[in-house]
Amino acid sequence: MLNKKSVDDINVKSQRVLVRCDFNVPLVDGKITDENRLVAALPTIKKLIADGGKVILCSHLGKPKGEPKPELSLAPVAVRLSELLGQEVKFAADPEVVGPNARAAVAAMKDGDVILLENTRYRKEETKNEDTFSQELASLADVFVNDAFGTAHRAHCSNVGVTKYIKTAVVGYLMQKEIDFLGNAVDNPKRPFAAILGGAKVSSKISVINNLLDKVDLLIIGGGMAYTFAKAQGGKIGTSLCEDDYLDYALDMLKKAEEKGVKLLLPVDNVIADAFSNDANTQIVKTGEIPDGWQGLDIGPETQKLFADALKDVKTVVWNGPMGAFEMPKFADGTIAVAKVLAGLEDAITVIGGGDSASAVNNLGFGDKMSHISTGGGASLECGAVSILLVIIILRLYKSNESVKRY
Ligand code: AMP
Repeated sequence: MLNKKSVDDINVKSQRVLVRCDFNVPLVDGKITDENRLVAALPTIKKLIADGGKVILCSHLGKPKGEPKPELSLAPVAVRLSELLGQEVKFAADPEVVGPNARAAVAAMKDGDVILLENTRYRKEETKNEDTFSQELASLADVFVNDAFGTAHRAHCSNVGVTKYIKTAVVGYLMQKEIDFLGNAVDNPKRPFAAILGGAKVSSKISVINNLLDKVDLLIIGGGMAYTFAKAQGGKIGTSLCEDDYLDYALDMLKKAEEKGVKLLLPVDNVIADAFSNDANTQIVKTGEIPDGWQGLDIGPETQKLFADALKDVKTVVWNGPMGAFEMPKFADGTIAVAKVLAGLEDAITVIGGGDSASAVNNLGFGDKMSHISTGGGASLECGAVSILLVIIILRLYKSNESVKRY
C-alpha cells in the first residue's frame, strides 16, 4: 500500500542521514512532560544506527518564529533521547541550525553516531520552504528520512524543500505505520463504515464525498457545507454559508448515494443566529426554514439525535470537519455531541481527520478515546486507490481495542 520507499528499502552504511523527526514535545521549565513522540521515533533511529549510518536528527519545537529562543531549544530532547537510546545523542547547538557548529559536528561523526540539530524554526526560511535553508540542510546529508507525521501536511524546508536537494528520500517507520493505518482503515474497513463530513465548504471536499460514496455504508453531512445541500433541495437557508456553484453537485451526490445504497444523512434542524457571533440571538428551526437575515451555525438537537442513532453500531468512522462554527461555544454543541458519540463507541475504529475536528476532539478532552487522530488542513492523502481528504497526521493510539494496533 505504501508507495513511498521506507527505511527498510535502503542501507545507509557510512552515509550521512538527515532524519526529520517530530520532537515537538511539551516542555515545562525545560523538562519534557510527555515523551511519547521521542519514544515513537526510536525504531527508525535504531534501524539507521544498526545500518552503520551517521544519523543527523532534526525537528521543530514550538513556534520560535524564525529566531533563536533559548526556551525552545531542542537541547533537553538530546539529553532524554540519549537516555532512551542508550547511546549519546550529541546536541549540535547552533543558532543558525546549520551553521559552523553543526557542520563541524557532522564532519566529526563516525558510523553509528547520532546528533540532533537545533530547532529548525530558529530559521525564518523554514516555514516558508525557502531554498536557502533547504539547501543548507541538504548539504549535511546523503539520504533523507521523513518520520515526522505531525508536520507532513506542511511544506517546510525540513520536510519538503530538502527533498529537492537530496537524491534519496524515504519515509521512516512511524510515518509508514500511520499511512498504513489510515489507508487500511478506509481500504479494508470493518463495517458498517461511516463517514462524517462537516466544515465550511463543499468545494474543498468534493473528491472526498465522491470517493466516500464508493466506500461507506453511511455518510453524514453537517456543518456549513450542509446548507448547500439544503438549498439544492429547495430549502430556505437565509445567509448561511452556501456555494451556489455546487448546488447541482449536491443533487448529484444525493442521487449517487441512493444508487449506491449509501445512507446519506443531512441535518433536519439547525441552530440559527442573527449574526456570526457568540453574542448573537439564536433559535432552532427545521432545515430549509431559515428566515432571511439568519444563518445556520450548528446542527440542532433533533439532528444530534439522528446522527447519534445512526452511528451507534458502526465499526469504522472517519470524521472530517466540525458540525458547526464550534469555535464559538454557543455553536459547539453539535460537534461536541458527535465527539461524544464517537468517544463512546466500543470496538470501533475512529479516525479523526482535519485540523478542526481533531482540535475540537482534543480540546474537548476526548482525544484519548479516539483510535486515531490526524491533524492538519486540506492536504489530501493518497493511499492506494483511496484519495481522501482525511489529512494528516499525529497519531494517538491509546484505545484498548484489539482491532487497533498499538504503537
Ligand atoms: P473546514 O476547514 O472546511 O473543515 O472548515 C472548518 C471551519 O468551518 C471551522 O472554522 C468552523 O467554524 C466552520 N464552520 C462549520 N460550520 C459552519 C457553519 N454552519 N457556518 C459557518 N462556519 C462554519
